[in-house]
Amino acid sequence: MNTHEWDHAPRNAEWYAEYEARFARFLAREEIDALSIGHHECPTCQVPWDDVGHCPKCDAEAAEVDEPHFSWKPCEGCGSRLGGERHRATGWHNQSQMVVTFEVCADCAYYASFGRLDDVTMEIVGGAR
Ligand SMILES: [Zn+2]
Ligand SMILES: [Zn+2]
Repeated sequence: MNTHEWDHAPRNAEWYAEYEARFARFLAREEIDALSIGHHECPTCQVPWDDVGHCPKCDAEAAEVDEPHFSWKPCEGCGSRLGGERHRATGWHNQSQMVVTFEVCADCAYYASFGRLDDVTMEIVGGAR
């Protein structure tokens, strides 16, 4: 399926298999093992959050900064071009020893955290595990 077809394909078992393949290809392409959702540091001060998710410099809260925003930008994880929530995500690039950042859709944010999609979607695609 090309990206255009895939964006409008019904969510079923085939769609889910394609989704998982796309997500795996994304990790391989970016050379990261896993994706973490949220900012790994305060985007304003560029210092790591403290233990309770506060910025030690400006007192910003990670939870507020991590609020998803609406965007038409394609998801950098699965490549979906449908507008929707975009979440900040980071990965550790071993070779360069650097944190790399991405904007991913709600599906990818969920998948990165739980290794599957939400209950409603899993029900539809028949892949409840
Ligand atoms: Zn700050
Ligand atoms: Zn995605």
